[in-house]
Amino acid sequence: MLDPRSIIFILAALSLLMSFVLFAMPASIRERIGGARHWSLAMLVLAGASSLYGLRGIIPDLLSMTVANIASLASVAMIYSGSRAFFGLRPRNGLLALGLISACLIMTLCTYVVDLFSVRVAIFSLVSGFLLLLYGLDVTRLRPRQAGRTSFPYLFTAVTVFFDVLVSGLRIINAISFPATGSEFLAPTPINILYFSTHSLLAICISVGFILMLNERLHAMLEHQLSHDALTNAYSRTMLIDMSQRALTADRAPVSLLLLDIDHFKQVNDTLGHQAGDAVLRHVVDTLSSSLRPDEPLGRYGGEEFILLLRDTTASQALLVAERLRAQVANTPYKHGDEARPITLSIGCATANPGENLEQLLHRADAALYRAKRAGRNLVAQG
Ligand code: GH3
Ligand code: MG
Ligand code: MG
Repeated sequence: MLDPRSIIFILAALSLLMSFVLFAMPASIRERIGGARHWSLAMLVLAGASSLYGLRGIIPDLLSMTVANIASLASVAMIYSGSRAFFGLRPRNGLLALGLISACLIMTLCTYVVDLFSVRVAIFSLVSGFLLLLYGLDVTRLRPRQAGRTSFPYLFTAVTVFFDVLVSGLRIINAISFPATGSEFLAPTPINILYFSTHSLLAICISVGFILMLNERLHAMLEHQLSHDALTNAYSRTMLIDMSQRALTADRAPVSLLLLDIDHFKQVNDTLGHQAGDAVLRHVVDTLSSSLRPDEPLGRYGGEEFILLLRDTTASQALLVAERLRAQVANTPYKHGDEARPITLSIGCATANPGENLEQLLHRADAALYRAKRAGRNLVAQG
C-alpha cells in the first residue's frame, strides 16, 4: 500500500505531465479556445503545491504548509476561471481573489496564532469543494447539446468533479468529527490514504476531462469552419452540394432546390462600400434563417447567391416557400445608419424529376433564376 507522501509525489509528477500536455498544444489553439492557458498554469501550480506538501517535515513548514495551501487553492481557482473562460462566461476575478485571500488569512491565523489543523483542513476543503461544485454545475449546464456534438467529455468531467466535491465534503466532516493535529497530515491512516489516493486520481481525471473538452471543442470548431461560410455562417457551397447530392440519391420523396440571388448587389458595394455589402450578405442570411427550419439548409453558393435545399418538398410547396422568403427579405430593409435600404431577391426553383442528377437540377434552377431577373427582379420563377 502506498503511503500518503508517495501518493502526493505521484500526483505532482502527473500534474506536471498534464501541464506539459496542455502547454504543448499549438499556441493558436490556446489563443482560440478560452481556458486552455488557465488550465495549463493550474496544473503547473498544482504540481508545485503537491511537491511542497510531499516535502513536509523536510523543508520549513512555511513552505510545506502555508505556501502549499495557498498554491493549491490558487490552482483550483485557476481551474474555475479557466472553465468560465472556456464557456465564454464573465470572469469573476474580484470575487475569487476575495474568497482566496479570506481563506488564506483564516488558514494562516489557524497556523501561527492558534494551531488548529482541523479548521485549516475544513476551510481548505470547503473553498476548493465549493469552487469545484460551481465548475461541475457550469459543465453540466453548458455542455453542448447540438446534433453532431458529443457531451461525453463534459459528463466525464462533471462526474469526476462532483466525486471530488463529495470527497472534500467527507474530509470536512472527518476533520470536524475527529480533530487531528498537523503532525498527522501525512500519517498513513486509512482516511488519509483514502483521501489522498481518490483526490489525486480525481485531480488527474479532471485534467484529462479538460483535454477531452478542449479536443471536442476544437473538433467542433474545425468541422464548423469546414462546413460553413465564414462571412455569413450559412453552409459552405461544398457542404450544401454534398447534402443535396445525398438527398437526391437517398430520398424517395421529391427534392427541391431554390437559387436565391440578391438584386443589384453590385450597387450596394458601389454606393455604400464593400463592408456594407458584407453586412447586407449577413442581413439577408439572418433574415432567411429566421424563418427556416433546421432541416432546410441554406448555403452560400458564391458571391451574393445562395442555395436552399428543400427535402420532401413538391414543386408547388417549393414555390410557396420561395414566395414567402422573397417577401420576407423584401419587407425587411437593411438598416445602414439612419437609412433603411430595401433589399430584394430573385429566386429560381426546381424540383427533381425521377433520375435527374444534381447538375441538371441546378441548371434548371439557374435558368429559372435568370428568367426571374429578366422579368424585372424581386420575383420567383420555376424551372
Ligand atoms: P443582379 O441583380 O443581376 O444579380 O445584379 P448584381 O449587381 O447583384 O450582380 P453582379 O453579378 O453584377 O454583382 C455581384 C457583385 O457581388 C459583384 C461582387 O463584387 C460582389 N460580391 C461578391 N462577393 C462579395 C462579398 O463577399 N462581399 C461583397 N461586399 N461583395 C461581394
Ligand atoms: Mg445579384
Ligand atoms: Mg449573382
